[in-house]
Amino acid sequence: MSIVIQNGRVIDPASQTDRVADVLIVDGRIAGVAPNLSSPGAERFDATGMIVAPGFIDLHVHLREPGFEHAETIESGSRAAAAGGFTSVCCMPNTKPVNDSVTVTSYIVERARRNAIVNVFPIGAITKGSAGVELSAIGGMKEAGAVAISDDGLPVMNARVMRRAMEFARSYDLPIIQHCEDLNLSAGGDMHEGAASVRWGLRGIPSAAEDVMVARDLLLAQLTGARYHVAHISTRNSVAMVDYARRRGLPVSCEATPHHFALSDGEMAAYDSNYKMKPPLRSAGDREAVTEGLVAGTVSAIATDHAPHPGSEKMQEFELCPFGIIGLETALALALEHLVHARKLSLMRLVELFTTGPESVMRLGRGTLATGAPGDVTIFATDVAWKYDVNQSFSRSRNSPFDGRTFRGGPVATVVAGELVWRRDKA
Ligand SMILES: [Zn+2]
Repeated sequence: MSIVIQNGRVIDPASQTDRVADVLIVDGRIAGVAPNLSSPGAERFDATGMIVAPGFIDLHVHLREPGFEHAETIESGSRAAAAGGFTSVCCMPNTKPVNDSVTVTSYIVERARRNAIVNVFPIGAITKGSAGVELSAIGGMKEAGAVAISDDGLPVMNARVMRRAMEFARSYDLPIIQHCEDLNLSAGGDMHEGAASVRWGLRGIPSAAEDVMVARDLLLAQLTGARYHVAHISTRNSVAMVDYARRRGLPVSCEATPHHFALSDGEMAAYDSNYKMKPPLRSAGDREAVTEGLVAGTVSAIATDHAPHPGSEKMQEFELCPFGIIGLETALALALEHLVHARKLSLMRLVELFTTGPESVMRLGRGTLATGAPGDVTIFATDVAWKYDVNQSFSRSRNSPFDGRTFRGGPVATVVAGELVWRRDKA
């Protein structure tokens, strides 16, 4: 079993490689990266004119299984991931039941082994039922395959519980991922608190709802030494605080979603629930700060926060709609458009944000084309025009604000353990 990806421009941040070469994968592992590799009997993929990168890692997705299979399943979510160029995804525990036990973690691992076409890594809950009170079975979940802990969807509001959780995370050497939102400050809010929310008469969520929790948690991270990660960072102050903590040498990191660097509250379509998510689309200044964080290295990873909701739930009044949008299939194209084509990031740095960056947070043993590494490869184009039609999505849900957009560049093919699991139909 072998495949050779020929003649592409290989960009591998782990080795700072940027040159035209072949990538050979044998028995599911990288066997070599060099020009004109001889590979008798191997399947061939012509990547001339394309970028060949280590398989992309999305460290923040919601696959909705078990419990919400009408919105997404591990199988459908994995297909959307593959079509987005992702070879590995980490799934948040806010399923039904919540992934706060060995039983649920093992169930996800087993379902993924049977049904997923990409690698799926479960994230265990910090607290039982993500209720924020009692710590879950962290050690057992780690043994069963959990790669991090988080109560995402909800924050851990109680600082004492968060401190204890960080101590456990540290002793199990797991990253602890926080959805930073002070629920008392955000209560009742549907969008960012600013000019647009006032204009539309909608209740706002102030940036401070995120900032106060980031500040508190960074102090707790200093106290405990935990590997602390801020999910979907969205404000100027939060980016500045994470930068400060990293400069002080704390093992803290953060991720940014494509929607938070591609859109601000001023670009929302009024009362359109496809623009409703948490944290909300922020001000133009916040969006700029998130972009600056991606450029400067304060932000370690681009993560989608892929959050499927079926049409029936998103087709209600704005205030009643759930928060979240799908994002796996548009992430790379949005990053190319807003970061690379906009001349803010090099291609090398872009690939880093999808590979070595998330790998540094999650430590999955991936994100590199080094010989012997898992044979996961993302092949993408930077200039081919294509149109995103959400009705063609592999996701079971359709909640995207980017439907109908024409993009320049995006995923072309996805290889997982040496197997071509997805390729774009020729136009
Ligand atoms: Zn969240």
